[in-house]
Amino acid sequence: MSKKILIVEDEKSISDIIKFNLEKEGYETLTAYDGEEGLSMALGDKPDLVLLDVMLPKMDGFAVCKKIRETSLVPVIMVTAKEEEIDKVLGLELGADDYITKPFSMRELMARIKANIRRTDFADLAKDNPSDVQEFGNLEIDMNRFEVRKNGTPLELTQREFELLKYLAVAEGRVFSREQLLEEVWGYEYYGDIRTVDVTVRRLREKLEDDSSDPKYIMTKRGIGYYFRRP
Ligand code: CA
Repeated sequence: MSKKILIVEDEKSISDIIKFNLEKEGYETLTAYDGEEGLSMALGDKPDLVLLDVMLPKMDGFAVCKKIRETSLVPVIMVTAKEEEIDKVLGLELGADDYITKPFSMRELMARIKANIRRTDFADLAKDNPSDVQEFGNLEIDMNRFEVRKNGTPLELTQREFELLKYLAVAEGRVFSREQLLEEVWGYEYYGDIRTVDVTVRRLREKLEDDSSDPKYIMTKRGIGYYFRRP
């Protein structure tokens, strides 16, 4: 079955060209031209991925993303046009899975979409898998089912957050550079911005750590990257 992508973009010429290219690649598309419409379609029409522009009439992309995340874990790629917006995407706990900066090439956009959709496929597959719970101190990670519990309480992680945690935890103590993590966890070598890794680590810490400014699980190796440690 073809995957359904929701394009939330008010500039019709940009929306049209993205739609054309996605359909050429075999995706089904939905289009919304303002933030309110985008939010209602993201929640009502069950897309497999949302491509969300930041600058939108009625409700901006940041607000839409936050609202989507209150009830849905659908992959969201934010589309930013300015450096200030990137800072905001990185600085806030928005819950976006990825972002792409205008102007972007269609090739780059397709790579991002494919990388994020693939994660969803994997999650669908995981539902039928037997559970494989591994314990890391007071953390339980079900490697096959995208479930994490801390002191018995389930944590709500996005697929990407889960995969990053799993990847680091399995290799407990081993330090990975941002570039390595981008390649291994995100799966695209050439298009990713390494700051994507920092954003995801920050969000993961918010959910995982008692005090995200003093992490006990996901550790920073200054100048090198990140590693997992059980407290
Ligand atoms: Ca716009």
